[in-house]
Amino acid sequence: MNLNLYGFGPEDDRKWIIVDLGVTFGDERTPGVDLIMPDPAFIEERRDELLGIVLTHAHEDHIGAVAHLWPRLRCPVYATPFTATLVRAKLIEEGIESDVPMNVVPLGSRFALGPFDIELVTLTHSIPEPNALAIRTPLGLVLHTGDWKIDPDPLVGDEMDVKRLTEIGDEGVRAIVCDSTNVFSPGSSGSEADVAKSLVEVIRACPQRVAVTTFASNVARLESIAKAAAACDRRVVLVGRSMFRVVGAAQDAGYLADLPPFLTEHDAGYFPRDKVLYLCTGSQGEPRAALARIVEDTHPNIALSEGDAVIFSSRIIPGNEASIFDLQNRLAERGIRVITERDHFVHVSGHPCRDELARMYQWVRPQVAVPVHGEARHIAEHAVLARELQVPEAVVLRNGLMLRLAPGPAEVIDEAPAGRLYLDGEVLIDADEGAIQERRKLAFAGAVFVSLVLDRDGKVRGDPQVRLMGLPEEDGRGVSFEDCALDAIDAALDRLPPKRRGDDDAVAELLRRAIRGALRREWGKKAQVEVAVIRI
Ligand SMILES: [Zn+2]
Ligand SMILES: [Zn+2]
Repeated sequence: MNLNLYGFGPEDDRKWIIVDLGVTFGDERTPGVDLIMPDPAFIEERRDELLGIVLTHAHEDHIGAVAHLWPRLRCPVYATPFTATLVRAKLIEEGIESDVPMNVVPLGSRFALGPFDIELVTLTHSIPEPNALAIRTPLGLVLHTGDWKIDPDPLVGDEMDVKRLTEIGDEGVRAIVCDSTNVFSPGSSGSEADVAKSLVEVIRACPQRVAVTTFASNVARLESIAKAAAACDRRVVLVGRSMFRVVGAAQDAGYLADLPPFLTEHDAGYFPRDKVLYLCTGSQGEPRAALARIVEDTHPNIALSEGDAVIFSSRIIPGNEASIFDLQNRLAERGIRVITERDHFVHVSGHPCRDELARMYQWVRPQVAVPVHGEARHIAEHAVLARELQVPEAVVLRNGLMLRLAPGPAEVIDEAPAGRLYLDGEVLIDADEGAIQERRKLAFAGAVFVSLVLDRDGKVRGDPQVRLMGLPEEDGRGVSFEDCALDAIDAALDRLPPKRRGDDDAVAELLRRAIRGALRREWGKKAQVEVAVIRI
């Protein structure tokens, strides 16, 4: 996920712009959390100095937090038409569309935000309208690439504006802030046009139904798949909410204009098996997405059967391996053929491999390279590559570090707080708050709740109540863990005579420790234990 801040001016009169404001997705390490986003506390405190949010392109890791964090920032937003359409849809969902000043800027345009003179330079990527930002200031020019690749034939949208990049290089670039995602991949990422050709062959070889899954945001891929389907005399059915959302946004922005009309899920039922192609969400194994529901046979209109084929026209995003392989195994078990980028040419990456990075550095010739958009190992490797490519300075940053790009040598001058926020249900919480950590502990070993009633003399009234959640019922010898907890309570109370039972907190803590100790001995694990002492 991305949140870049550029500042200009002395500390007492500084102005800021945000470039991109994205999210990442929760996983088993953050149970119950759908979205994770950067904590904007640093810039929120300086909101008066914030001139705007500029978005490079419409991927979730670049725009997904705008609707959630804008209320804390309340500044104008700048985006090209396709990106603006998708952001606007999210603002409508959050009910803040009319509050947010959204400025739709044309591709290749130039506009000023205070001391920042910002020019959009069209690149290519796996979504329409990827823009680099040439940010000019009185102290020099920074080229913020956003996500990009070199695609000589992107199929949807304009070609990369190499001429402009070279002119900017001639003008003089103080620093490039550049995509590191594929720095370990040699060569080039390949062209969408080649995938489109290959998809025709792959689909033609499928005798029955075909489902293809990809990221809905990859509009060029949607077009490649739709045209390949037409070439194989198949009609396309869009399946999944985000397919419709993105296709609508793409058509609003003038893309996907010459495709044959899509078939509805319902009408597809009347077509022969070899005349339809389902274009589905869910390439990452997301449990609620179309493909997972089709595999589980819970989709209302679509079913696959033996002899059909599913093409994963996508890559595996690290962290999603287990759910994707699970989906693919279930397809295979049912005799459905699984085709992926490992066995067929059905996908190209949207990020620059090493040869493409080298060409970018040749065009732009920056004095300073600041690798971003990758894990620490990608960023470190990208810095090594930049130095090999004769960039005089390459700086390895981590989240929160404030780098002075000019004047003088590039230097880390400060560190801003750079935490994370979790969207938990409808509530944004601080990642350090402890709620999710507690939830993880509960997931690991469950919980024991105890209530104990004591009178003023410290005598136990009634039986202590014990409730277990997420524990096995009994140990290997047939002793129930409920009895184990009750025995531990009795033993602990025996050690504590009634006159020393005056302090509720001390009693609760004693019981808590006794139960945890007993569980560890009998079970080998410690549950969370909560004890309520009620005094009457
Ligand atoms: Zn990205
Ligand atoms: Zn992207």
